[in-house]
Amino acid sequence: MSVTCNELDVLLPEFLDGTLTPAQEAAAAEHLATCKACALEVNELEGVTRLYKEYGALTLPDDARKRIMGTLDLEE
Ligand SMILES: [Zn+2]
Repeated sequence: MSVTCNELDVLLPEFLDGTLTPAQEAAAAEHLATCKACALEVNELEGVTRLYKEYGALTLPDDARKRIMGTLDLEE
């Protein structure tokens, strides 16, 4: 199983959450190992996700929180 960039985009949120099936996760990891553009995107998302999980709504100013929510495509 291999995925395209578009398919990876769909898998990405769950990949970061660790909720993919092992087959999906392997396919996503394989794509990331061979696609620099997607690997960069994951790096950015991982940074933002970690920031959000650690600091969440508690300490972030409203505009920064909204930006992160928009980046992560989450509902407030
Ligand atoms: Zn890609």
